[in-house]
Amino acid sequence: MLRRPAKKGLVVLDRDGVINRDSPDFVKSAAEWLPLPGSIEAVAGLSRAGFTVAVASNQSGLGRGLFDRRALAAMHRKFRRLVANAGGRVDRIVVCPHTPDEGCNCRKPRAGLLHRLGRYYNTELGGVPVVGDSLRDLEAAVNAGARPILVRTGNGRKTEASLKRAPRAALRSVVVFDDLAAVAAALVKE
Ligand SMILES: [Mg+2]
Ligand SMILES: [Zn+2]
Repeated sequence: MLRRPAKKGLVVLDRDGVINRDSPDFVKSAAEWLPLPGSIEAVAGLSRAGFTVAVASNQSGLGRGLFDRRALAAMHRKFRRLVANAGGRVDRIVVCPHTPDEGCNCRKPRAGLLHRLGRYYNTELGGVPVVGDSLRDLEAAVNAGARPILVRTGNGRKTEASLKRAPRAALRSVVVFDDLAAVAAALVKE
């Protein structure tokens, strides 16, 4: 059966620093997975407005042995439950488990995770909003032909400052919002 995104289309979110608090020590358990203010409502709002909400996340902590698949699943159960309680739905979550030196094609800034979602939903990625807080999220979006959106949460302010010097014009013109709630409000109005 062919899967298709809901009527408003697909929106792809980075996880750490966009939905939940990031940590320099990695987010290793459901207890450490703490939503940013307003993010759960933002995800639920996108879903209720007719978007299919997917998450594409680098999780090199898996490859580094800092946590395992069970812990990751527990984090995502917590996330999905919070969004469900807010009246929405998280659709597909894809992660890159590899460390940077493994040279995989899924770790952002590579576009592998986004292409995986495109195949899963049988949809083109052109125009699909990809929301992130780090340069590699935006680069992955550009590499996939999607639409990069930066939030100022997580690493976002640092990333915003670095964009002025970005080598690629597509990165210098990225749209920036304060947080996921502001992104969701804008996308719902489109
Ligand atoms: Mg992030
Ligand atoms: Zn990977």
